[in-house]
Amino acid sequence: MFHGLMSQPAHHRVELRCIPVFLDEDIVHQYYNGYCNNILWPLFHYLGLPQEDRLATTRSFQSQFLAYEKANQMFADVVNQHYEEGDVVWCHDYHLMFLPKCLKKYNSKMKVGWFLHTPFPSSEIHRTLPSRSELLHSVLAADLVGTDSREPLKHYGEHGSLPLGYVWIGGICFHTYDYARHFVSACTRILGLEGTPYGVEYQGKLTRVAAFPIGIDSERFIRALDLAPVQEHMKELQERFKGRKVMLGVDRLDMIKGIPQKILAFEKFLEENAYWRDKVVLLQIAVPTRTDVPEYQKLTSQVHEIVGRINGRFGSLTTVPIHHLDRSLDFHELCALYAVTDVALVTSLRDGMNLVSYEFVACQEKKKGVLILSEFAGAAQSLGAGAILVNPWNVTDVATAIGRALNMLPAEREKRHKHNFLHVKSHTAQEWAGTFVSELNDTVIEAQLRT
Ligand code: UDP
Repeated sequence: MFHGLMSQPAHHRVELRCIPVFLDEDIVHQYYNGYCNNILWPLFHYLGLPQEDRLATTRSFQSQFLAYEKANQMFADVVNQHYEEGDVVWCHDYHLMFLPKCLKKYNSKMKVGWFLHTPFPSSEIHRTLPSRSELLHSVLAADLVGTDSREPLKHYGEHGSLPLGYVWIGGICFHTYDYARHFVSACTRILGLEGTPYGVEYQGKLTRVAAFPIGIDSERFIRALDLAPVQEHMKELQERFKGRKVMLGVDRLDMIKGIPQKILAFEKFLEENAYWRDKVVLLQIAVPTRTDVPEYQKLTSQVHEIVGRINGRFGSLTTVPIHHLDRSLDFHELCALYAVTDVALVTSLRDGMNLVSYEFVACQEKKKGVLILSEFAGAAQSLGAGAILVNPWNVTDVATAIGRALNMLPAEREKRHKHNFLHVKSHTAQEWAGTFVSELNDTVIEAQLRT
């Protein structure tokens, strides 16, 4: 994002309403590639560090953490330069866990919220992080409710304007209750603070912690299906895969997405179901990501090798069972693919939410295809009743789910789709952002009234 913005001319940045924070190369390396993506990302997704990197990471940890603090401070400086009284500052993701504290140091009255887009792991994982306490303390600085935490909670419980299933949101928010609960127990176990169902008592006040899952702009996808270029792509795809059921995977080529596990499950399905071998195709879009990191390069080769083996084993002179693409698609191509798919396969080993599953559902009003979804994706909490949930580590489980999905009768497909479609249409990104900001505003006003 930083590089992308820096290459934009200044007037484009103004149009995008973005103010860049310029980080030098060494900071980018230590902060972004190092601390964020080599330490926090794998840890928050329960992956651990790559074996050969462990010692090197242990040695470089301190300098990377200092770069993390420095980069967060640079963000705080820029925010502070542009801040106007009454503004709400919403910090996003694991890259900016230090930001709430830096901002509150500048101005304790600033309204600060923090949202984590990844999972927050069990406290047993978080406590292995050398900077475990500093990060928790800093995040807890967000949105301090200045009042006695035992009394006012009744008021929050009575709040009724949020959609069914949502709780009254807080200054610190996660996609699921599990992540929120993990965060609270990290604060109690590591910092010795008091946890409540509403948050954490911190410095005599309550920092509210809650689950507030993100959504997508579902109308954008639904509308796109009527556009001429999307219709054209759909026709081409339907022609190309006539007589075969289409299965689809759309993922960044990241360890957390479970792509090898997905392909191995598909292989097992073909092995055990000879009937389906020439009647189904798996289209796997694997968008390259962090391509300069050796671990990701290794994953690419591993996936290529498995795909090659399976295509050699089950392909013919004219067809192959897996089409694997190492590139991204444009929006129209992606919508067309979602719309012609019979079965979408999401096998993330861990995933904060997984928006691909939402986008697939939004594009399936006609076809009513089946979603196979990892129980380790945040989306499983909201789309679980309509999807077939699987444990991606269990290849047999996933292979069985593929068979079930391909053979599912229309009435069951319709029922499952309806459940998910209603959810995706009613829990949108716009509503998510709007509600968060207005609730954060109310929280701070509420706190001021009580002091
Ligand atoms: N995506 C895209 N082009 C592609 C493939 C995917 O723009 O060729 C988008 C997709 O529409 C989705 C996002 O990438 O919005 C992936 O989000 P998700 O939450 O599923 O996973 P993440 O990559 O954020 O871990």
